[in-house]
Amino acid sequence: MNVNQSIPPVPPFGQPQPVYPGYHQSSYSGQSGSTAPAIPYGAYNGPVPGYQQTPPQGISRAPPSSGAPPASTAQAACGQVAYGQFGQGDVQNGPSSAVQMQRLPGSQPFGSTLAPVGSQPAVLQPYGPPPTSAQVTAQLAGMQISSAVVPAPPSSGLGYGPPTSLASASGSFPNSGLYGSYPQGQASPVSQAQGHPGIQTPQRSAPSQASSFTPPASGGPRLPSMTGPLLPGQGFGGPSVSQPNHVSSPPPQALPPGTQMTGPLGPPPPMHSLQQPGYQPQQNGSFGSARGPQPNYGSPYPAAPTFGSQPGPPQPLPPKRLDPDAIPSPIQVIEDDRNNRGTEPFVTGVRGQVPPLVTTNFLVKDQGNASPRYIRCTSYNIPCTSDMAKQAQVPLAAVIKPLATLPPDEASPYVVDHGESGPLRCNRCKAYMCPFMQFIEGGRRFQCCFCSCINDVPPQYFQHLDHTGKRVDAYDRPELSLGSYEFLATVDYCKVREGKWLLSFPSPFFFPSPPAFIFMIDVSYNAIRTGLVRLLCEELKSLLDFLPREGGAEESAIRVGFVTYNKVLHFYNVKSSLAQPQMMVVSDVADMFVPLLDGFLVNVNESRAVITSLLDQIPEMFADTRETETVFVPVIQAGMEALKAAECAGKLFLFHTSLPIAEAPGKLKNRDDRKLINTDKEKTLFQPQTGAYQTLAKECVAQGCCIDLFLFPNQYVDVATLSVVPQLTGGSVYKYACFQVENDQERFLSDLRRDVQKVVGFDAVMRVRTSTGIRAVDFFGAFYMSNTTDVELAGLDGDKTVTVEFKHDDRLNEESGALLQCALLYTSCAGQRRLRIHNLALNCCTQLADLYRNCETDTLINYMAKFAYRGVLNSPVKAVRDTLITQCAQILACYRKNCASPSSAGQLILPECMKLLPVYLNCVLKSDVLQPGAEVTTDDRAYVRQLVTSMDVAETNVFFYPRLLPLTKSPIESTTEPTAVRASEERLSNGDIYLLENGLNLFLWVGASVQQGVVQSLFSVSSFSQITSGLSVLPVLDNPLSKKVRGLIDSLRAQRSRYMKLIVVKQEDKLEMLFKHFLVEDKSLSGGASYVDFLCHMHKEIRQLLS
Ligand SMILES: [Zn+2]
Repeated sequence: MNVNQSIPPVPPFGQPQPVYPGYHQSSYSGQSGSTAPAIPYGAYNGPVPGYQQTPPQGISRAPPSSGAPPASTAQAACGQVAYGQFGQGDVQNGPSSAVQMQRLPGSQPFGSTLAPVGSQPAVLQPYGPPPTSAQVTAQLAGMQISSAVVPAPPSSGLGYGPPTSLASASGSFPNSGLYGSYPQGQASPVSQAQGHPGIQTPQRSAPSQASSFTPPASGGPRLPSMTGPLLPGQGFGGPSVSQPNHVSSPPPQALPPGTQMTGPLGPPPPMHSLQQPGYQPQQNGSFGSARGPQPNYGSPYPAAPTFGSQPGPPQPLPPKRLDPDAIPSPIQVIEDDRNNRGTEPFVTGVRGQVPPLVTTNFLVKDQGNASPRYIRCTSYNIPCTSDMAKQAQVPLAAVIKPLATLPPDEASPYVVDHGESGPLRCNRCKAYMCPFMQFIEGGRRFQCCFCSCINDVPPQYFQHLDHTGKRVDAYDRPELSLGSYEFLATVDYCKVREGKWLLSFPSPFFFPSPPAFIFMIDVSYNAIRTGLVRLLCEELKSLLDFLPREGGAEESAIRVGFVTYNKVLHFYNVKSSLAQPQMMVVSDVADMFVPLLDGFLVNVNESRAVITSLLDQIPEMFADTRETETVFVPVIQAGMEALKAAECAGKLFLFHTSLPIAEAPGKLKNRDDRKLINTDKEKTLFQPQTGAYQTLAKECVAQGCCIDLFLFPNQYVDVATLSVVPQLTGGSVYKYACFQVENDQERFLSDLRRDVQKVVGFDAVMRVRTSTGIRAVDFFGAFYMSNTTDVELAGLDGDKTVTVEFKHDDRLNEESGALLQCALLYTSCAGQRRLRIHNLALNCCTQLADLYRNCETDTLINYMAKFAYRGVLNSPVKAVRDTLITQCAQILACYRKNCASPSSAGQLILPECMKLLPVYLNCVLKSDVLQPGAEVTTDDRAYVRQLVTSMDVAETNVFFYPRLLPLTKSPIESTTEPTAVRASEERLSNGDIYLLENGLNLFLWVGASVQQGVVQSLFSVSSFSQITSGLSVLPVLDNPLSKKVRGLIDSLRAQRSRYMKLIVVKQEDKLEMLFKHFLVEDKSLSGGASYVDFLCHMHKEIRQLLS
């Protein structure tokens, strides 16, 4: 042990003391240009702090424009080429109210929601449209169509794709075939006819023409199984054609049942080239060999191109294809919901209402149930019995975001103060008073809605009942009329640590000390060399003025401290009375302790001069360092010990660059081994290397110490291990691979600002209570659990979600429904102990159809992704994928068997609410975690796995199915966001420009034939060839198109919780491979199935289950 309490080396603290005129001054001075953000900052801590919707405030916080990196170097400097900067980036929770695109009236692609099928029972939903149970009948029997395929179907239905002359892209294009087969323009009847002469779809209204199937190629062995006689009236019989969710009636109505659509098709279709070598018709995408009775999905799956695990030489049989326009379109569903549900507020007064989709911009009015911004469920009508639930296999889960930030026009939860008696609770189950509690005996008692226990009403809470049995003060009390509210907590809710808190804080409602933030900065060679340390220190000088504060508080109660480290730690005394900061070095990292108490954690305003001086000096002090080794565990240990000594909760902000190989607890070795992929040992890549990290995390949780980790790796750093502590303490991880100041500062600073400023609760415990009959059995998210019911969160911010799964333990009652109550006990950033309560009432059903009518697929996918991403810790990835597929097939087969009207086995029938389940599930299956491409690093996978764990529904939705926005289709003066197109290469027109975003990544794709004027307006160069591939900043040009596109980029960024760095991709450029990774409806290079293929596969699975 070696504590040097002395003046440090180099030019340290002896310099003239800088004057500190306050924030506005010098903050960004160090950086280029800098039209620094004094103003934006100002707005930020406004009444709705943190809310990052588009409007005035939040965004203005955008990074200083100065930071804009020179427009040229986007390629990741190190190894991974562009991928480095891609997976790494960002995301996590976006403001829940994700998108606000408004569709232009009239631009509706499809014949839009067609009339519901007559035969469907009326839907009992309180609001609007789509007849939920209407069957989606995709005539996969269309498979029977033999013979070759027409060059890709005209993507008529969708409003894009001008008849550009899609030249068959050159050979350099991996999938050039797709281009070749590109629609020759809208709806060209020609090409259709070419495919199936004579087959028209007269009944269909013009626009919905979209839906003819591309006939699957002829014959492979699969045919027979897929061929069902077309029963008249089924699938695409007259009326059903117009079904809203009618997945695309294929054309064959005209054909007599059973007829095969064998057309005299011309020469081998160009589509051939689309298919991967060895692709055989019956092997949907990557699904391996033809199915045996038991989907033995097997080996071939992962290995990309080996689809043909079938014996025999892979013969290029004519591929069969389903018309992509004929299968359920995510875009269509999203647009329909926006149109149908985006106009009226969502009022939460009615039990079991399914909220609008997360992609719809809507207003919420709390009338007794928690807003969907706080809780979303996989189903709002749950089966009464566990037998039914088992039969349906629909997971019963809630995705809860207890501290979600609301849009400015929705009120934050009221705070209720019951004085010293504290919140009223049920004596038996401890549920909190809520609108569902039943008052009886004239108001003297109440019956608990969760456990039925009869409780006395305390005299001070007594109130008379009106003639309906309702308390007359019900509407004056948030806890009796609202779904969400807060209670001030009393002594009973405060943790007493070593008996000290209560002594030092005698006030009845103010027990814990205000939390502290500790900034812990890696100053090893890598951190210094990249300019990270200088950038960070400069930023902190101004950022510290924007620590979160409560309500209208003038200044933040949060105290701050600073540590730097490489393989030893340096603590700093920044006490306000000092002229200069003092450094203390602790080199005994094996037995970490905090060398100073007084002066380590300080108030920013009081110690401003000393802090500024310190931040000025840190980059200088270590400028010449040669130290490359770092420690990690001792750093967190030190921060936690400091909080413990100060008797407060808090957050550590760790800025770290390398694998901690220095001799110390938690020392790691490089164990990255790609050879483990697709083996039984692959799971070890996701597991932490040593148990030291979990042990440490547990201690941190006990102290209320949350860790946010910013990683700047140049190579493997073992994210799987390093992220354990952030993950278990409710923290966040950010990763900036191959960080370079000029390229990445904007993204890093933007993330840092948001992260430091966001409102956070500390030392939290969350508990979900349920009414009799179901209970919470499983939890997913960033937290720690030491028992089976309490979710412990050292910190919890407004971005984090916890997904909770429920199981039956008794029979539920249709009449009383089912209730959830989520109670979160936490310490606010001012040190106030509070309880936030969210209540939600669900319906219960005895008919499976009711379950399927009230599901929410986006939430299901959120749950399933988290389930799968946790599964890879313990099971082979392939087994995890198989489990998902099986479950999905069971869900859909159960619907088919029990809820759909009888029809031919050749039809795929999907529940209206779940018609996107296959496409979304396929996106999960082929995600980097479950089926990585060659360019995805082990760290990327661990990183994404960890991110998804805390994502809300809006985030998983866009993460798995990215948004692809055409930029030049809508009139330039249009101010609404363009309507997205489906994430498939077929949807790209080479005469257009598109933005693609998934919450983490942002691409601008430029078609090769885009008009010169457009190129000039956006890039200020005269031709396509002069556009710099990989560009990450668009030039600021004074023309409408440039303004519009840059504005849209800003708006997309503002909707997401992490900054998305732009990458400009040119058609046919090598970076395009990276971009194509996100075209999730297409077959992926890593072997992931295309949507069409997956749907066929799903259909087969379902048929197998039914037979
Ligand atoms: Zn109770």
